Amino acid sequence: MENQNVPELFGSLVFDDRVMRARLSDDVYASLKKTIDENVRLDEQVADAVAEEMKNWAIENGATHFTHWFQPLTGVTAEKHDSFISPSPDGGVLMEFSGKELIKGEPDASSFPSGGLRATFEARGYTAWDPTSFAFIKDHTLCIPTAFCSYSGEALDKKTPLLRSMQAINRQAKRILKLFGTEANYVRTSVGPEQEYFLVDQEVFNKRPDLIYTGRTLFGAMPPRGQEMDDHYFGVIKPRVNEFMEDLNKELWKLGILAKTEHNEVAPAQHELAPIYSTTNVATDSNQLTMEIMKKVASRHGMVCLLHEKPFAGVNGSGKHNNWSIGTDTGINLLSPGKTPYENAQFLLFLCAVIQAVDDYQDLLRLSVATAGNDHRLGANEAPPAIISVFLGDELSAILKAIKEDKPYEGTEDVVMKLGVHSIPSFSRDTTDRNRTSPFAFTGNKFEFRSLGSSNSIACCNIMLNASVAESLKQYADELEGAADFETALHDLIKRVITDHQRILFDGNGYGDEWIKEATEVRGLSNLKTTADAMPHLLDEKNKKMLMEHKVFTEAELQSRCEIMLENYVKTVNIEGNTMVDMVRKNYLPAIERYLFRLAETTSLMKSVSANVKCNYEVSTMERLSELTDHILDSVKALEDDLDKFKSLDDVFESSAFVRDEMLPSMETLRGYVDEAEMLTSQNDWPFPSYGQLLFSVK
Ligand code: ADP
Ligand code: MG
Repeated sequence: MENQNVPELFGSLVFDDRVMRARLSDDVYASLKKTIDENVRLDEQVADAVAEEMKNWAIENGATHFTHWFQPLTGVTAEKHDSFISPSPDGGVLMEFSGKELIKGEPDASSFPSGGLRATFEARGYTAWDPTSFAFIKDHTLCIPTAFCSYSGEALDKKTPLLRSMQAINRQAKRILKLFGTEANYVRTSVGPEQEYFLVDQEVFNKRPDLIYTGRTLFGAMPPRGQEMDDHYFGVIKPRVNEFMEDLNKELWKLGILAKTEHNEVAPAQHELAPIYSTTNVATDSNQLTMEIMKKVASRHGMVCLLHEKPFAGVNGSGKHNNWSIGTDTGINLLSPGKTPYENAQFLLFLCAVIQAVDDYQDLLRLSVATAGNDHRLGANEAPPAIISVFLGDELSAILKAIKEDKPYEGTEDVVMKLGVHSIPSFSRDTTDRNRTSPFAFTGNKFEFRSLGSSNSIACCNIMLNASVAESLKQYADELEGAADFETALHDLIKRVITDHQRILFDGNGYGDEWIKEATEVRGLSNLKTTADAMPHLLDEKNKKMLMEHKVFTEAELQSRCEIMLENYVKTVNIEGNTMVDMVRKNYLPAIERYLFRLAETTSLMKSVSANVKCNYEVSTMERLSELTDHILDSVKALEDDLDKFKSLDDVFESSAFVRDEMLPSMETLRGYVDEAEMLTSQNDWPFPSYGQLLFSVK
């Protein structure tokens, strides 16, 4: 691809602002713009006009079908394609697309999880156009980003609550800005998600049923060479991977996705892609698309893109970093320290809002990234711990300390700072990103939430982040709006928040055992290790109250979401358990037995030739392998019992606890024996490709 084509290529498959402005009449464009920016309802004629132009544009760009594209709670995106054709009286067809079809769709919702919502409310669901995210063309189909709801308006997807959370933070942040006299029509949060993934060769992948069925390896002894050399990071990108990345960029750019940097990651075969940040809602759609396109492009290059959080035990897993900030339509980043004392006080207040939100709703942030896959990473010395804390860096910490203690901050004039009156010193941003072990780090003008798993939708954590920060801002606005002396009240408020939420601030090593002890025993922070531990907190009274008050979720939606997320967890592990049983019974045990037979045959043959041979290697290997087959048999039986017992449990809270306490430990034990047997068995007799073959499969 020639470089000069990039600007032309970029967004060429997107019905973006450029296309709208060029193709829609001035009136129609103005109404649509109002809908996009200010959430004003679109009237039917305007919708018809938009639909007509969207269709014409799509057909000119090769589309024959359209679909409402949405994000059900399964974690993937869903689409149902309809063609534009409609019969004409002369026996031919016309290509038609109405405003109605653009605005609303009725997919067969019965196959998507609803956690009892549809049963309770209404049998069908509908999709509704989200004009704030541009329509695009994929696979000859015009895709219209939509929200997915039940007929009574209960959200069945991730976009709806995300949009609601963005409205919540907009409402509250505007109240604060008004107090400072800062001009803004609206406030939006922005996100830049850094996406990690693995690439393995398709042929090697095809030989591993565990990867095929579950996305991760359920067995596998460590290769002699793992990531200990740390040489993969920023190393030379292999030619085949390079071709993949070039192709991927091209596909993403066509879809208007701002793919910006890509590099190798820590583990062999691991890579990362980071886009330039955009509005949270758009970033979420783009990240879902990015994951889909990554898989598709990998397969074109004879590879498989693994988005699982922990495809290989003993090797770093894949996460996603959610870089998040709040900004105004007038171009102010509210998390960027300002130049005047007033701007600085405003910055500190927003900073406080985030600190308080993370402390008050640690559990919501933790559960927003909880999945069976991500449970393998968090707290495993490769990713942040399951304990949530905030990293601010030396300079900002010192500034907050000075405010808290009414002491001068070194480097300022020798006065005790009064916020809103005195400047806080400016500080550089590059000193802030050193500590990679913190789950929630301030990085100069944004916060980076690092606990997400690679396959997570970023919608979930941003819903919680937006909502909980909206709650802090609401409390501040309530207090400050009624204050007699704004500056004094502001100063007192900031000082109080810093003091009250000190426990969530931690700049030290998040991977250490000492931190876990201090966090849980001294500071009283929550340490929700697994999905089964975390998810039920969605229904804690304080969490329900906050999320409902800001109109992000209804009670029924929370109930259903909690159940669906736990169902996803237990189903995932159940499939893994069944896959393990299958592989052990059909492949591993017979393979070890074949090898044992050869050893036994060799030994007796050798001994029959000469009475002097000892056959130490053959005999000792046989003895240990034979013990291992007994252990494998016992543990596969134990796992089968667990899988049977699991079937008899129908309460999802009970079954998720069972999965955590019984099934996962049984799987771990079984794996241990099989992996030991792998080290004793000839590679020719081993039924599946080894870790070495997988991790170094792409040349
Ligand atoms: P790095 O983490 O490699 O130092 P950056 O800090 O530039 O790189 O950005 C990492 C990610 O954060 C990118 O996706 C970038 O677009 C995003 N990002 C940068 N500024 C902001 C911001 N103000 N709000 C949200 N995301 C941002
Ligand atoms: Mg980062």
